[in-house]
Formats: sequence, C-alpha cells, structure tokens
Amino acid sequence: MEQKPHMAILPSPGMGHLIPLVEFAKLLLLHHDFHITCIIPTIGSPSKAMKEVLQALPTSIDHVFLPPVSLKELEGVKPGIQITLTMTRSLPPLRDVLTSLVATTRLVALVVDLFGTDALDVAKELNVSAYIFYPTNAMVVSLVLHLPKLDETVSCEYRDLPEPVKLPGCVPIHGRDLLDPIQDRTTELYKLFLRGAKWMRLVEGIIVNTFMELDGNLIKALEDEEAKSGTIYTIGPIFQSGSTKQVEGSDCLRWLDNQPRGSVLFVCFGSGGTLSCDQMKELALGLELSEQKFLWVVRSPNNELAQAAYFSDQTLDNNPLSFLPEGFIERTKEQGLVVPSWAPQAQVLSHGSTGGFLSHCGWNSTLESIMQGIPLISWPLFAEQRMNAVLLTEDLKVALRPKANEKNLVDREEIAKVIKSLMVGEDGKKIHSRMKDLKIAAEKALSPNGSSTKALADLASHWTNQPNS
Ligand code: UDP
Repeated sequence: MEQKPHMAILPSPGMGHLIPLVEFAKLLLLHHDFHITCIIPTIGSPSKAMKEVLQALPTSIDHVFLPPVSLKELEGVKPGIQITLTMTRSLPPLRDVLTSLVATTRLVALVVDLFGTDALDVAKELNVSAYIFYPTNAMVVSLVLHLPKLDETVSCEYRDLPEPVKLPGCVPIHGRDLLDPIQDRTTELYKLFLRGAKWMRLVEGIIVNTFMELDGNLIKALEDEEAKSGTIYTIGPIFQSGSTKQVEGSDCLRWLDNQPRGSVLFVCFGSGGTLSCDQMKELALGLELSEQKFLWVVRSPNNELAQAAYFSDQTLDNNPLSFLPEGFIERTKEQGLVVPSWAPQAQVLSHGSTGGFLSHCGWNSTLESIMQGIPLISWPLFAEQRMNAVLLTEDLKVALRPKANEKNLVDREEIAKVIKSLMVGEDGKKIHSRMKDLKIAAEKALSPNGSSTKALADLASHWTNQPNS
C-alpha cells in the first residue's frame, strides 16, 4: 500500500465548484506532500473548460470521472436540483472509487463541497474522515449551520420575515437576501439542503475559502458556540491565478493596454449569469450614460433564469451582441468594448487600466477582485450572491449596490449614477481605499506566517499524523 497520505476531493458540477476545490488541492501540495484524487461527478460530457483545468493539474493530482448523468434525465430541472440529483445518482460509482482507494492507498480524508453531503454517508460507511469545503464566506457557513434551528423556529418563508435574520457575528440580513435554495421552503431542494445542513455538525472539519482578517468575528462567534461543529479552517483566499482562455481573450487585454490607468469598469456576471432582455438593455444604456470606460462580457439574455448559461459551453452562446440596443456598439466604440460570453477575468482584474468591477458577486470573482484591490459594484443574481453582496456593501463597505425600481429593474439612471460614484466620485475613493486595505490583509493571511497558511498547515499535519489505515 502507498505510504504517502492520500486525499480524495469531490467537487460538485459547475466550474465555480471545481476551480476552488482544485486550487485548494494545488495549494496543499505546494506546502505538503500528498497524493490527491479528484473524483468528478458530471452532467452530460465534461466541458472544454473543465478538461483544460484538469489537464493542467500537477502529476500528484489525478482525476476520475464518474459516469455522467444524462442531461435528458435532468431536463426542465433547476440548476440547484440538477447538481443535487447528479451528486445522489453518482453515489454508487463514488462508493466503488473510494473502496478502491481505501484498499490501495493511505486515504486520510474525503473533502466534499456543500452539494456533496450525501457522500458523507459513504465516507462514514468506509471509515474515511470527512470534511466539507466551502468555496464561499463564513456568513454562508453560519447560515447553513443555523438552518436546522431557523427551520424549527420560523413558520413563514424567510423572505416574509418582518425583521432581518441575525446570525452570530454577522451583519443583520434580510430573509430575501439569503441563499436561493432556502427561498421556497415547500420545494424538494429546500428539504435536500436542510438534510445537508444537518450533516454540517457531524463532519470533522469545515474548510472555508475566506481569511480571518475578513471573516474573523464571525468565525470566532461560531467557535464560541456551544453546539460546536467540526474545526473551522479558514485557508483563503484561494483564487484562480490565470485563465485557461487567455489566447481567446487577448483582444480585450490589448484594448486595455490602450486605456488610461484605473479608468475601466469591468462588467461580468461569472461563468453563467444572465440578465433579462429588458435588464440587459438598461445596463447597456446605463453604461453609455455614465460616460465611463467599460469592458463588458456580454451573454445572451434569459427572461426566466439568472444562471441560464451555467452548464452550457460558452462557445454555444452564439451572438449575444445581437441583443444589445440598436446602435449601441457604434455609439460606444470609443468608450467601451463588449466581448461575447467570456474574458480572461483574472488577467483583466490585474490589468492596470481596470479601476472597478461590476460583478454578480460570485465568491471567486469577489476574491479575485479583493486580491487586485479593485472596488466593486454588486449585482447579485443567484445562489449565495445576495449574501455576498450584503457582506461587501454593508459590512466590509467595499462595494456599491444599485437599487432596483418597483418593476424590479435597475434603470439606466441608477446604473449611471452608481458607476460614476464608484469610478470618479468621493464614495468611490473611500471604497477603493478600503479595498486596498483588504488586499493587504489578504496578502498577509497568505504570507508564510499568515493566518491562512497556519490553518492549512494545521489541517495538513492533522491529516498526515493520522494512524495508517
Ligand atoms: N470567469 C472568467 N471569465 C469570465 C467569467 C468568469 O475567467 O468571462 C471566471 C472567474 O474569474 C471566476 C469564475 O470564472 O474564477 C467564476 O466564479 P464565481 O464564483 O465568481 O461565479 P460563478 O461562475 O460560480 O457564478
């Protein structure tokens, strides 16, 4: 049997889940000698972007695809349920892979993400230590840990609560800003999520992609609680340091080269976020009205779903530019650049011409922005993004959040006002300066004696010192 400690990681479907877990594995290898197997449940065939990420992995990380769950089987089902069902359907082959790892390696831990809690049963059955990786911040961890209690004590939908929810150590948050999967308590997704939440207190450790300087109050509040969960390890920020699509995106980097320093607002809604047709038009007209430079990753609109492009291969998203208002591209050709579907975000954010980021506040995008000290306009769409937006705007105060009107549309005047405020206003300067402080704090956390480096070392030594199985 191999003597090197071996770990298994189980990312749930979606690039936003794969990337941080894989980056976590890479970071672990940088400091400690492990062998890691990435076990991948898939919906349909793996995307090109996913294959690129896996092919670029170091040799100490191998990967196994579990048999794909057919897209046909998941037709008409919302993405959250698609992910959960895929994870459940993948349990039998997962058991086979884990059984084989237990027999042939010194398997010290299985790390799953928040959609992988059903796999913890399998880990228990095989006597493998189980950990949950949270690719988000501690507010989300706190909410999930407290969900069983909220479920017992609140009788209405959380969005109808008259008062904001107060989680220990967190800014008060309105029920409508909580995670998507808990917004409708009558659904199967809510029940599945609640079941997963109960698991949270049974794992040995919770690994969170945040850092003490950002989330310390909340982490301490969680650690002080009586009904303690497993140890919490804050090992972030883990972030993608380079895009796999650099070549395709080089046009926009060249365009940025020719813009004044700090002048460009980058606009991007993550790997799959979409706006409605009307909202997309308002955003275009708001950008134009702001008279600020912009670089906009444009995706075809969708009136039903805010994450319509989440599992689609971006190259299939043909001609999103045709949905822009008539004459927009011509009128703004000196002011901005629109790129269809995808841009090398990490490089764009690190470019000296970028001075602001209008973001859907996915946690990876948020951390990438923090690491470059780029202030934000928060435009949350789905999943936990509204919680991230509350943290960024109300607690950390490194973002501005535009207000929607009575038709639930953010209109062009509001958009232009907020953009000007961030890019050239007094508020923008303060926000920028706080974001720079946060960047410094993040760098400190990752430094050799930093809080995140120490947490990772603790975790690794805990795993390496486990008795041989
Ligand atoms: N991303 C990118 N280019 C794009 C859109 C997204 O490189 O045009 C990357 C981005 O840098 C981040 C990830 O995709 O690493 C998006 O993750 P996030 O958690 O922000 O949002 P999600 O895609 O999960 O909604």
